Amino acid sequence: MEEREVPLIFEISSEGRVGVEPPDSDVPVVNPEDAIPGRFLRGDIRGFPEAGEAGCVRHYTRLSQKNFGVDSGFYPLGSCTMKYNPKVNEDISRLAGFSMLHPYSPAELCQGALALMHELSMYLSEISGMDSMTLQPAAGAQGELCGLFMIGAYFKDKGRPRKKILIPDTAHGTNPASSSLAGFDVVRVASEGKGILTPEGVKSHIDKDTAALMLTNPNTLGLFEENIKEIADIVHSRGAFVYCDGANLNALMGFMKLGDMGVDLVQLNLHKTFSTPHGGGGPGSGPLGVKKILAPYLPLPRIRKKGERYVLDFKGEKSIGRLKAFYGHFSIMVRAYAYIRRIGGEGLKHASEAAILNANYIKERLKKDYHLPYDRTCMHECVFSDKYQSRFGVTTLDIAKRLIDYGFHPPTVYFPLVVPGAIMVEPTETESLSTIDGFIDAMKSIAKEAVEDPALLKNAPLTTKTSRVDETMAAREPRLRWDIKG
Ligand SMILES: *Cc1c(COP(=O)(O)O)cnc(C)c1O
Repeated sequence: MEEREVPLIFEISSEGRVGVEPPDSDVPVVNPEDAIPGRFLRGDIRGFPEAGEAGCVRHYTRLSQKNFGVDSGFYPLGSCTMKYNPKVNEDISRLAGFSMLHPYSPAELCQGALALMHELSMYLSEISGMDSMTLQPAAGAQGELCGLFMIGAYFKDKGRPRKKILIPDTAHGTNPASSSLAGFDVVRVASEGKGILTPEGVKSHIDKDTAALMLTNPNTLGLFEENIKEIADIVHSRGAFVYCDGANLNALMGFMKLGDMGVDLVQLNLHKTFSTPHGGGGPGSGPLGVKKILAPYLPLPRIRKKGERYVLDFKGEKSIGRLKAFYGHFSIMVRAYAYIRRIGGEGLKHASEAAILNANYIKERLKKDYHLPYDRTCMHECVFSDKYQSRFGVTTLDIAKRLIDYGFHPPTVYFPLVVPGAIMVEPTETESLSTIDGFIDAMKSIAKEAVEDPALLKNAPLTTKTSRVDETMAAREPRLRWDIKG
């Protein structure tokens, strides 16, 4: 066997070793065969690892130390808003009254949790300028899907179903994916020279079969869609809706409300903007806000306040039904609620302000070293490309990998698709000037290396245990079990 620094859990396995000793059962023992039909019973699990407690804890702790997270360093992943999450939010979400609550407790026994959800919905409605909010969606993409189901239900209810969703070419991949999952046809709208949508562009694609325009503001180039009001008027004049992907509210909070700009539906990513942890496929939360006209189609149950009591309302003929088990990811809501309450409206505004300032600072300081395809004031993120470096055979991937040697997580790369070799940097408001300057210095130094020693960049990262892995193979043919060869 080849030598590895960290053995696989299967390699430290030793037959018969156990890590837990559950107490003796205090209820009568039942044979599984007597209680569960045989076909549902699992037989032996071949190669199942057996390890002691210490071995197991050390194994996973060691693995976790090979990871990179917002708690270990700067993580400027554009579009993802990997900002630092205050630990006090973690403490609050773990209060026993929240964390030990059964998710199907009757309303009379969970008034506190319902009050929190109700208030959070109101705060988010206020922040986004919407009339009603559902907290059920488990992530941004599910919020999109929820909104699209509702749009579909609306037109069906009116007796004239519509088929098309217009989506700009800068959109996040989830937008067209959610649209087709909800049964719509996607019509691609090109962003013009300035990197934003134009009223003419929208006009030339919209027709009587258009159900909605799905846009992102600020868009994925980090640019503000300046024509949004005019565009919304065009969409509304054709009886269609404006859906805004609000995953990136980090630039707008406290400054402007999407509802005031003509947006009819918007999902917010609590796990981005509202300072709750995300990444690695962990739980998220993508509340969806809508204008009055769409409220009857919101998922059930709705949380309502009757006098001083909170109730779960399961009635609603037009509702698209339940979207998610329980009421969504409650503990993420607690963190977002704590975050909003702690910093307040002024704090949210200040967060957006600092996020925008930081992104523009990076843009200005790096634009001589890296090609900046859209040289205008950006919002909370800025997009460079590898155009200058590619002359020396150095690509965006090489630059990203080299950043790891400098101690930084790479930015988002090769997205948005409209910029070849895109490098999308989102610093967020939670980073200090010295961290940001350190990142800028590293980027400048890499730009210099690209000229002087391109071969070095081709092999980066040089300081990590593994360097370049075959990412396609890792995604397409993951080897998750030790005993499966090949
Ligand atoms: C992150 C993101 C999404 C998807 O959100 P998930 O919570 O990952 O499903 C959609 N649109 C934009 C612009 C995003 O940045």
